[in-house]
Amino acid sequence: MRLPERVRNWIGGEWADAPGGQAIPVVEPATGRGFAELARSGAPDVAAAHAAARAAFPDWSGRPASERAELLERLASLVERDLERLAWLESADTGKPLSLARAVDIPRAAANLRFFAEAVRAWVPDADLEAPHCRSRVMRRPVGVAGCISPWNLPLYLFTWKVAPALAAGCTVVAKPSEETPLTAAALAELSAEAGFPRGVLNVVHGLGAECGAAIVAHPGIPVISFTGGTATGERIMSVAGPMFKTTAMELGGKNPTIVFADADLDAAVDGALNAAFRNQGQICLCGSRVLVERAAYDRFRDAFVARASALRIGDPLDSATEQGSLVSQSHRAKVAAAVERARAEGGRVLCGGRAPAATELPERVRGGAYWMPTVIEGLSMGCATNQEEIFGPVLTLQPFDGEPDAVAQANDSAYGLAASVWTGDRARAMRVAERLECGIAWINAWMLRDLRVPFGGTKRSGLGREGGEEALRLFTEPKSVTWPA
Ligand code: NAD
Repeated sequence: MRLPERVRNWIGGEWADAPGGQAIPVVEPATGRGFAELARSGAPDVAAAHAAARAAFPDWSGRPASERAELLERLASLVERDLERLAWLESADTGKPLSLARAVDIPRAAANLRFFAEAVRAWVPDADLEAPHCRSRVMRRPVGVAGCISPWNLPLYLFTWKVAPALAAGCTVVAKPSEETPLTAAALAELSAEAGFPRGVLNVVHGLGAECGAAIVAHPGIPVISFTGGTATGERIMSVAGPMFKTTAMELGGKNPTIVFADADLDAAVDGALNAAFRNQGQICLCGSRVLVERAAYDRFRDAFVARASALRIGDPLDSATEQGSLVSQSHRAKVAAAVERARAEGGRVLCGGRAPAATELPERVRGGAYWMPTVIEGLSMGCATNQEEIFGPVLTLQPFDGEPDAVAQANDSAYGLAASVWTGDRARAMRVAERLECGIAWINAWMLRDLRVPFGGTKRSGLGREGGEEALRLFTEPKSVTWPA
């Protein structure tokens, strides 16, 4: 397989360069090798994509939901057909193990497309109401052209999580993947033509967030913005979209607690917490980066956890034995390294990792990669910056707690409120704790266990609004009530 040399916009069913051929280099993070040029788009490209989407809207939104669903299913089948190629592109673009992209990212992208096809078929968007003096119909109709902006950590997975419900609901789309990881979104755009999507229904523009992303947010003809990314970016987007009264869904950062009670199955908890901390090199918004362990079990948990974390195999993403690939970029690794330095300065004891692997610890092909060893730190207070700020890498902290109220208080001592996982043998306690946690998503004796029908999203600085299931179909539609005398 070959990596593309040029990644262009997909507008109105055709490839298009940015004006003047402006481009950004795309780098394979595991090797440090630049391999492609990405269209560096701005407001004129977004305007062209919007015009194509606007022109396609009347036909697309006027089709029966079942027709839109059928096209989404065809696209899902093409993603499944091309699973190997897409997984390989995803791994090259992000540095994640190919085995992970093959088992999780790409199958989940296909599942998103299928899920929203089914969901829209089953959805009854209109409701008739009767009152003694009048009758009403509440209709929900697609809002128009949707803007979908996605991050680099789970590129096709999160791109389809937005685009699929928008298309299913009858919107046409202007979408922007992260400039760090544009390959699979570009591949999906091409597959959408093969699936038979009419021109202009799905448009993909590439470029920097501050240029291309900002142009989508500021475009007056794009009334809904579905965004997944960092909290600081979310703030910037809201400051523009808010005064324009745009509908927004903001899926932002997290600093998620993993709470382990002494009555938990400790082997399962170590396994679960390890997965929650280091899956995708800790670069998932849902990752559990603050592990709270009941004091009676703390030493046993810590020793077992550190042994397992130290044994994780770092290596070439293409090697099927690799469990930890590269971080997404050298600049992101520098941020992770600075966060670990700060943890040391705050008095944290680094129990394992805490450094980049030496070149000799890596296979030759990936010695230029952005690797970081799985890192476990203890001895920090909950209020310190390490425990308050998102690191978004393979770095977690361990802290003991005493009893249920202390566990809940420490877990909630965060400006974020995305996800949490609770490990205990006591189901009633698990439900009690889950109810008191300030977060949008809580798991019991599990992590990242997903039913695509349930609402997805966070509270506090982790976001606004929900995606998933019917919530996503509602996001891309607007209600209108029509009332007449009885
Ligand atoms: P980011 O905020 O830097 O970028 C996300 C996307 O927004 C990219 O496509 C980027 O180009 C674009 N963007 C940047 N500035 C913009 C602007 N001013 N206007 C419009 N668009 C702009 O985030 P990232 O570094 O790509 O991703 C990591 C972050 O995403 C982490 O904070 C992580 O927690 C968060 N995240 C959240 C979820 C969730 O569901 N809550 C899921 C995955 C990642």
